[in-house]
Amino acid sequence: MIDKEAIAKKYADERAKRIRDEGTGQYVAMEIGSQMEADPFVDGVAERDPITKDTDVAIVGAGWSGMLAAVRLRKEGVDDFTVIDKAADFGGTWYWNRYPGIACDCEAYVYLPLLEEMGYMPSMRYTPGDEILDYAREVGRRFDLYSNAVFQTVVKTITWNEDALRWIVTTDRGDEIRSRYLILGTGGVLHRPKLPGIPGLESFEGHWFHSSRWDFDYTGGNSRGNLDKLHDKRVALLGTGPTGLQCFPHIANSAAETFLFQRTPMIVGPRDNGETDPQWFEGQEPGWHKRRSDNFEAQMIGVPVEEKIVTDEWTRVWGIPPLEMPADGSAPDMAAYMAEIEDYDLAQMERIRARVDELVDDPEVAESLKPWYATHCKRPSFHDEYLQSFNKPSVHLIDTKGRGPDQITSKGVVFDGKEYEVDLIVYATGFEAAVSPGRSGGFDVTGCGGRTLADAWARRVRTVHGIQTSGFPNMFVIGGLRQAAVSVNLLYVYDEQAKHVANNIKQLMDDGITKLDVTEAAVQEWCDIMDANMDLVFNAEQVRLCTPSYFNNEGNFDTHGEFKNGRPIWADAYGLGPFQYSEVLAKWRDDKEYETKAEIVRDSESVSS
Ligand code: NAP
Repeated sequence: MIDKEAIAKKYADERAKRIRDEGTGQYVAMEIGSQMEADPFVDGVAERDPITKDTDVAIVGAGWSGMLAAVRLRKEGVDDFTVIDKAADFGGTWYWNRYPGIACDCEAYVYLPLLEEMGYMPSMRYTPGDEILDYAREVGRRFDLYSNAVFQTVVKTITWNEDALRWIVTTDRGDEIRSRYLILGTGGVLHRPKLPGIPGLESFEGHWFHSSRWDFDYTGGNSRGNLDKLHDKRVALLGTGPTGLQCFPHIANSAAETFLFQRTPMIVGPRDNGETDPQWFEGQEPGWHKRRSDNFEAQMIGVPVEEKIVTDEWTRVWGIPPLEMPADGSAPDMAAYMAEIEDYDLAQMERIRARVDELVDDPEVAESLKPWYATHCKRPSFHDEYLQSFNKPSVHLIDTKGRGPDQITSKGVVFDGKEYEVDLIVYATGFEAAVSPGRSGGFDVTGCGGRTLADAWARRVRTVHGIQTSGFPNMFVIGGLRQAAVSVNLLYVYDEQAKHVANNIKQLMDDGITKLDVTEAAVQEWCDIMDANMDLVFNAEQVRLCTPSYFNNEGNFDTHGEFKNGRPIWADAYGLGPFQYSEVLAKWRDDKEYETKAEIVRDSESVSS
């Protein structure tokens, strides 16, 4: 019999240990000139002359959002686009994050886009990161995106020129790219690495790096592990999020000694990965990818499905029971439904905590590794070696009980008066969450009348669909959370947005629309929809009571990163789910809603030919 009251008290006590007055101010940014700018994956920057040119569409960002926009434009017959990225290749997240053990936490059969068009069979159900990066490159080749791409190029400014009705993009390579339309696919949900503001951080005289800039020259090995150069090294790891969890077993396998400084234990469910069965894969009927992806989305948001096509730890931990609608048409009993969800959640967490006892030999260590919060407080993780790694004699769990290390010295990491001398510190401490495209890209966008996007969004993200912003004509943002639909499988939403934006740009070109600027009224209407439905994404009150994380603005609701909108990130997302979101986007295009909800300038002649 579960003692619900005792568990609720434990959750509250553990949360209280972790609340910090400084909220997100506890982190320091990795700024220009630091490791943030360096690319450990290439030797130098390829020489080239500055580019001055006109293009129909400038796409900033060559990760999946930028790539999908490019693919969808290509499919619409809009071929004059230019993709710009600071990396040396396609891949975005998968370009930068190559840490050992990296893999996608959603199954590849729903995560990887364009699988049917590409005729591609992922090697495993949860594919390793290097395979995803190779796949991104393959997509780049198949859709001939390389001929439209400018790599190793950092965008400096993006400015709307009202006279020319063009966006002017300048870069650190002296380029000036002038475009009719602008697509920002610069990430922003989780792109810009952050470091903990621990005193003495810069005094460390050993080696250190952030997980998203892994230095294999120092560690040896590659993203599959085998960190052979660590055999005589003492390594400290900070961070037990999805990244820390995936790289930790590889450090533990190779290093002479490993010290994991844990602040909050993670939810670690089983992974049960395996190779794809070619016979099963080939037997999939046409349209399977969309059906499977929709089925996964439905389970994640509690929409009833006839058959559970995807069943895995995601659908167990977060696959909330669907809301049964009464047959007589009356309103459902929401209080009873919320209680059902709470019971479901508790049962999942009890199972996760019991798994720690099963897999960790030392009961004291096991106790330290148990997460005491609800499933929706952090993005859950799945691993089949993480917990077992604590049984190795060379591995030391330093349970900081919510506080984190006290100091970094020239020699190592200090906690509770004890200095742990190490050769290497790895910071798997995450990323700035849901910042503006400019913040994540390191540039500002200047729209009509010299107003910057940072100004326009200073108090709150203000958009239509999370995609367009008043005063920034012909500009489209692709990305999740910032007033767009949310999904654990981000690419589900990105591809819907990419199809929408590409199709809409084609429409505008065909209709000879040279300027489209959504009205302030349309933006307000969309903000009102966010406000009315914020509780549907996740019950905002429950998330407020969660242990701190980027989900709830580190437990601080008064400020939210640079937006200062007083909301957790979930509460400024489209609460009605990805299916309804797609319908809203389709209506915008099919009914040409933009003709009434935007200020439009038309050319006398069509500009599409
Ligand atoms: P994260 O989830 O933000 O985790 C950051 C970790 O750093 C947390 O464990 C945090 O502890 C810890 N930390 C922060 N300050 C600390 C300090 N002073 N001392 C010790 N520890 C400290 O970052 P992440 O693991 O890089 O993951 C970010 C997101 O990327 C994930 O949520 C996920 O969406 C995505 N991701 C996805 C995959 C995938 O397979 N698709 C893989 C990796 C990452 P607290 O918990 O106490 O704050």
